[in-house]
Amino acid sequence: MVANNVLSAAPLNNDGLSSSNTNAPLQNSFINLDQGDTVLFESYWRKMSDECAVVIKGCELLSYVSDNASVCWFMKPELRDVIKRLHALVGNAETQDGHIVIGNGSTQLFHASLFALSSSSNSPNPINVVAASPYYSGYPDETDIVCSSLYKWSGDAKVYDKNEEYIEIVTSPNNPDGSLRRPVVNKKLGREGKLIHDLAYYWPHYTPITHKANHDLMLFTFSKCTGHSGSRIGWAIVKDMDIAKKMTRYIVMNSIGVSKESQTRAAKIMEVLCDSYDQNFKLGSKNSELFFEYSKRLIKERWEKLREVIKENGDLILPKFPGAYCNFTKESSETYPAFAWLMCKKDEDGVSYLEKELKVLARSGNRFGSGPRCTRINMLSRGDDFHEFLKRLSNIKEISY
Ligand code: PMP
Repeated sequence: MVANNVLSAAPLNNDGLSSSNTNAPLQNSFINLDQGDTVLFESYWRKMSDECAVVIKGCELLSYVSDNASVCWFMKPELRDVIKRLHALVGNAETQDGHIVIGNGSTQLFHASLFALSSSSNSPNPINVVAASPYYSGYPDETDIVCSSLYKWSGDAKVYDKNEEYIEIVTSPNNPDGSLRRPVVNKKLGREGKLIHDLAYYWPHYTPITHKANHDLMLFTFSKCTGHSGSRIGWAIVKDMDIAKKMTRYIVMNSIGVSKESQTRAAKIMEVLCDSYDQNFKLGSKNSELFFEYSKRLIKERWEKLREVIKENGDLILPKFPGAYCNFTKESSETYPAFAWLMCKKDEDGVSYLEKELKVLARSGNRFGSGPRCTRINMLSRGDDFHEFLKRLSNIKEISY
């Protein structure tokens, strides 16, 4: 059992959040850490509520069109501009030679990327879509849902050996295990395929910003950057104009664009975020904790507590991450992923272990192309849920439900 000071070192609810089910006592109920919700950041945005408020009048935003001069004509210019401003501020991606295409979350842009890349190919067969395991559990289902004749899911990139065209998804930092990644198929086969770089988590609260990413097709999402998953805004930075046009066409066929109300809100929140840094630089003030620093502190605290509890628990293993210098925060740091990838020390099923022993719902390694020994839990869940999880984990030898 873990000494109680691990859990009492900080107030239990120091994320400033309450449980999803505030009236129900958590002690005996199931805790859901399966989904990738991002509510941990809510306490920061509560402090900024008024600054981020937007008013949209009844006479505004009627048209489908935002900017006929842009490849992505339904994108509001102020959203495009603030996306570029945010990347310039953080230094995590090159936007100079890229076209920005927005989507209903990066999920829709993933579908659009598959369509654009595969419809530009001469292959008579569906193109193989691969990612190195453990890969984000959404990719296989999203790839195969419409049984497209253009592309098909072909599993783990590490074992892919077909002499056929392929698209490799490179997710860095990776969901579920937080690893930093590069393409793997080209090394094995000695030839380049088409690449989608999913950089949803390449932001300074999760990982040191070591370079400006500059790939042909990069996906980002508002969901993981600021935590506003519910707004459903994602963006792609695409070098090839034809690919950007095809992606835009896909989104038009699928949803005739992206809600302008959502675009307006996302643009406002990103503007407030960028302004707060500009203001700080101007004033030379280090007093107020800004979004990325605040969020990083919360995630880091959770990781530190989880590592302590896991060390004492003895049944589970967590991955370790190398440190690196972050060009944005100007300090060396570890990666603090949005998910913890837990492996059972013994050869047992991780999901059953967590469900039976702790009444915790987690996502099985099977869904990520790994074995059932591993499970993924959400590190950005509500404060009460996360702390109850730690409490159960630390008392595991004594609890019996
Ligand atoms: N890519 C990765 C790696 C993700 O983890 C997620 C969400 N869990 C997505 C894409 C989809 O994000 P969005 O909310 O923008 O659709």
